Amino acid sequence: MAFEYAPAPESRSVVDLRSSYGLFVNGEFVDGSGHAFKSVSPATEEVLAEMAEATADDVDKAVAAARRAYTRTWSKMSGAERAKYLYRIARIIQERSRELAVLESLDNGKPIRESRDVDVPLVAAYFFYYAGWADKLHHSGFGADPQPHGVAGQIIPWNFPLLMLAWKIAPALACGNTVVLKPAETTSLTALLFAEICQQADLPSGVVNIVTGAGETGQALVAHPGIDKVAFTGSTEVGKAIARTVAGTSKSVTLELGGKAANIVFDDAPLDQAVEGIVNGIFFNQGHVCCAGSRLLVQESVYDEVLMRLKRRMATLRIGDPLDKNTDVGAINSAEQLARIRELSEVGEAEGAERWSAPCKLPDRGFWFAPTVFTGVTQAHRIAREEIFGPVLSVLTFRTPAEAIEKANNTPYGLSAGVWTDKGSRILWMADRLRAGVVWANTFNRFDPTSPFGGYKESGYGREGGRHGLEAYLAH
Ligand code: NAD
Repeated sequence: MAFEYAPAPESRSVVDLRSSYGLFVNGEFVDGSGHAFKSVSPATEEVLAEMAEATADDVDKAVAAARRAYTRTWSKMSGAERAKYLYRIARIIQERSRELAVLESLDNGKPIRESRDVDVPLVAAYFFYYAGWADKLHHSGFGADPQPHGVAGQIIPWNFPLLMLAWKIAPALACGNTVVLKPAETTSLTALLFAEICQQADLPSGVVNIVTGAGETGQALVAHPGIDKVAFTGSTEVGKAIARTVAGTSKSVTLELGGKAANIVFDDAPLDQAVEGIVNGIFFNQGHVCCAGSRLLVQESVYDEVLMRLKRRMATLRIGDPLDKNTDVGAINSAEQLARIRELSEVGEAEGAERWSAPCKLPDRGFWFAPTVFTGVTQAHRIAREEIFGPVLSVLTFRTPAEAIEKANNTPYGLSAGVWTDKGSRILWMADRLRAGVVWANTFNRFDPTSPFGGYKESGYGREGGRHGLEAYLAH
């Protein structure tokens, strides 16, 4: 018997939203010189706050502050001292976790269940983890006396605003670099709350600087001659532009770009678990996940069974208010992203794939897209090749392990993959042959600070996370 859930909204009162925000430069909030822009709630289209746009001049000031902090303070401090600040930041993140989670869900549209149980705990975990490395860098395997680069320019996307910030800032600071970070233009609020946390932790001024703005601000940061290291997470297209900008300079670069991961289900897999993994793989965070399992490859003999169970499970997903604790799928982050998801889904239908969406009532205001699955998809379809970055799954089939490998690797990307099977030997055989930076076995979308993450081919280069993630921030 179906039963209704009573609404269980998380209170917004824990968040102290200001009407406008400045940039965070040299330990203080300052005005930006560009045009202010608005941050809206994707779930309601309500304007949450006005954000300052950093111009090239503002970026210059932030880089100068980071350089001063680097030469005068941070590079002179012992690793053990730096670690104290990182531990302090991690503990404040835990203390203020509810506030961070509510603000993240308001600004990004992701369900509070995810920001509260996944994003924010992982953010704290990354700071704790890299705090532990700060005084052990000479044992990290990157030379006897590895040195920081200096000032890192970091640019992050909107899908995991705080988590991507943690992936960038925690290892950079642990290794002795100072940073200028630019959050995505639709999701800057939690980065500015993080700036407050840096103040609260008494982090020396200029060690962390946050400049808000869109592509032009990002371009100014990447091109700035005072930047020693560029770390970018975002689309492959912008990643290529950044690689062109820094080519021929002495800047070191890491790029974490797009993906089109295969989630491969064999006929001996525990199917109910696999269905949970498929749902988690593509509907977690509305599918705004670079490593999302957006291509489902099912062995032909269990195709009907998997599809039947998948649709049944999708029909139980609850879509709506991101702040409701019962919500499984929240809002699409922006009108532009919604338009892209709609466009590619229409192309999928026009190219002959069959579209099915979970029956659900979408809210009237805001940006929404029902969890959708396409069957009858072939390798030639655009929905099998291009990153949709939304809650849209393309289903293909295979007969043999070799065919699964062939299809899984037939993509310009190579960020992640999933394998569902009862046989350990098959997992190892598959993992050896899959050209993906991460291969999950009988699970999907699992993150851990000790584990490296990154791509092959057009998914980028360099690794974040784990001991490997230190390498990006050390000159050796
Ligand atoms: P995007 O590339 O449009 O923007 C990412 C960031 O770059 C934003 O902060 C944006 O303002 C900035 N930017 C835009 N143009 C720029 C330029 N010319 N120079 C410098 N900075 C510029 O990507 P998006 O739409 O925000 O994010 C979605 C993409 O991010 C997807 O392709 C997704 O796969 C990828 N992503 C990758 C990972 C990973 O770890 N590999 C993680 C999350 C997201």
